[in-house]
Amino acid sequence: MTTAPVQVPLDITTLGDLPAAERDPALAAVSAALEGKPAGEIAAWAASTFGADIIVAASMQDVILPHLFAQVAPGVEVLFLQTGYHFAETLRTRDVAARTLSITVVEAVPRQNLAEQDAEHGEKLHDRDPNLCCFLRKVDPLARSLDGRGAWVTGVRRIEAPTRAHTAIVSWDDKHDLVKVNPLVTWSDEDVEAYQVTHDLPRNALVAQGYPSIGCAPCTRKVSPGEDPRAGRWSGNNRTECGIHT
Ligand code: SF4
Repeated sequence: MTTAPVQVPLDITTLGDLPAAERDPALAAVSAALEGKPAGEIAAWAASTFGADIIVAASMQDVILPHLFAQVAPGVEVLFLQTGYHFAETLRTRDVAARTLSITVVEAVPRQNLAEQDAEHGEKLHDRDPNLCCFLRKVDPLARSLDGRGAWVTGVRRIEAPTRAHTAIVSWDDKHDLVKVNPLVTWSDEDVEAYQVTHDLPRNALVAQGYPSIGCAPCTRKVSPGEDPRAGRWSGNNRTECGIHT
């Protein structure tokens, strides 16, 4: 069922030209007006506000965001960062989502394939310099994919990490020069589970196997019961973010 957009006006035609001192308060007001609204209404607002200029990022740990936007913007572009290091289960989830939802999967591809990267930087760059590896395989491809867009959507949730605790629903993304929309910021793990059950969504099989936060295979491990869900990402060093949200 299609969700009617909530009425929160935003003039996107001049947004990019405004000085930060005007632009950021305008977006903060929009964000405040959307706070507490259901994710489906936020998605409908974003789709109606940005039209074809929006793209939805999905890690394929779950397919909640693609499903949400497929309801309000059939055929919506869904961006998948194809690092070349994904688990087979993640790629299967992407394929099932592409087949069963009204979405168009777009892959952000690094400039070099893995063989070329290994030739230039040596094998297992992720073990020696994960910052550079994430830049080459995630940060740079994402930046190129967002170039010229009006807004992108992410599934960031405030409870996921201290670095995400104050994430706004709508904000200006300085790094990429466009609006960032986070419809799921207030969701708990129970909300995630309830949405998947209600809509009988395809699941990434790794979650049930002890992987509550899934990234590239070389940088993701299982976590023990009670352990921080993101402890399995870049385990063994102080890294908690790949750089696309910071
Ligand atoms: S998560 Fe690991 S393998 Fe993936 S891009 Fe970052 S450092 Fe490389």
